[in-house]
Amino acid sequence: MLYQRSSQLFAEAEKVIPGGVNSPVRAFKSVGGTPIFVKEAKGAYLYDEDGNRLIDYINSWGPMILGHAYEPVVNAVIEKAKKGTSFGMPTQLETEIAALAVSMVPNIDKIRFVNSGTEACMSAIRLARGYTGRDKIIKFAGCYHGHSDSFLIQAGSGAVTFGSPNSPGVTQGTAKDTLLATYNDLQNVKDLFEANKDQIAAIIIEPVAGNMGCIPPAEGFLQGLREVCDANGSLLIFDEVMTGFRLAKGGAQELFDIKADIVAFGKVIGGGLPVGAFAARNEIMNYLAPVGPVYQAGTLSGNPLAMAAGLEMLKALNDDTDVFKRLEEKTAYLEKGIREKLTEAGLDYTINRRGSMISVHFDANPVTDFKTASNGDNDTFKKFFHGLLKEGIYIAPSAYETWFITDALSYEDLDFTINSIGKVAKDL
Ligand code: PMP
Repeated sequence: MLYQRSSQLFAEAEKVIPGGVNSPVRAFKSVGGTPIFVKEAKGAYLYDEDGNRLIDYINSWGPMILGHAYEPVVNAVIEKAKKGTSFGMPTQLETEIAALAVSMVPNIDKIRFVNSGTEACMSAIRLARGYTGRDKIIKFAGCYHGHSDSFLIQAGSGAVTFGSPNSPGVTQGTAKDTLLATYNDLQNVKDLFEANKDQIAAIIIEPVAGNMGCIPPAEGFLQGLREVCDANGSLLIFDEVMTGFRLAKGGAQELFDIKADIVAFGKVIGGGLPVGAFAARNEIMNYLAPVGPVYQAGTLSGNPLAMAAGLEMLKALNDDTDVFKRLEEKTAYLEKGIREKLTEAGLDYTINRRGSMISVHFDANPVTDFKTASNGDNDTFKKFFHGLLKEGIYIAPSAYETWFITDALSYEDLDFTINSIGKVAKDL
């Protein structure tokens, strides 16, 4: 496949947009080459400006769990748009989606909608600090919680792809309140609590990490965090921006049967429109303005188009009792196929998967944290990525990202992908 027009469009974009993109990881920096410009998308497929059709394994980094241009969402947005696109005043729709989300997710009474996952996590942390009266937070190296200052400390995703986990512009003052821990290392977390007695407001974690490739939590790890938080009067924040409404109807809390104190959402909850949300029990959520003292706001928060899209998406996931089972089965099928092909080709690899989040690390050792994720062979990954692109298969342009499987994928698509991986693997 050729990507000539995409290259031209990228050159034009670079003149007026920093790096030609509005979010760094789109730029293909870590794999080389130029990004693909999308013209449209439907179901499991992207159609680019060169007229190529690509099978999409990124799905807008998660939201399109039921495929692109999912009709109930598209229709709801069109109908809403005809009636006004923003009011900055309450609408009944906001209560409807809030009530549905609260009914689907365990252990939350109230939810506040924002415009991105970044805002959701940033607000969750402010709420945790306000509620506990403490300043410090623990985050895990390689976890990404959006680009707000407190989180750009050894962050994953684009921040690590570009080799600058500690971004200039984040002040020392901010950085000192973010304590770093190693994913899946409970003792490390306990040591941090010991060294910072009564100072830690919260632990924030991706309950299944997806920003250093996919890294599931080790057995007992999340439960251990729950216990450490309880013992120290700190809050446990699950950043479910990726896992929420993806791993189960009630997200990771349901899947692992662990209660978080605050949960952050993004991606799927907006059905592909810019939406984030954070939620908790009443005693915590009532700390938020206008009821409580912790300030948080947004001109476009609860935007009618975004709420209409999110509501249709949540309804679809709530009503279809088999959707998460199908996603699990499709992704397990893909995993098995990839394993066979990479083994046949004699490659060193590790595949991590939980539900419909999966990633291939080109290293034979277990990948359980940021350090082991960093051991992957990036040259092999680059060849793998470009080989698949030639076959018409789009995976994330970085080894530090998970793939997001959509229910729109057919078994034919999966077979085609597995065979293509077989072809590509032979040349790696
Ligand atoms: N948290 C996690 C776990 C994420 O993966 C992301 C984005 N990939 C964010 C937060 C930030 O979300 P957004 O890009 O919508 O600001």
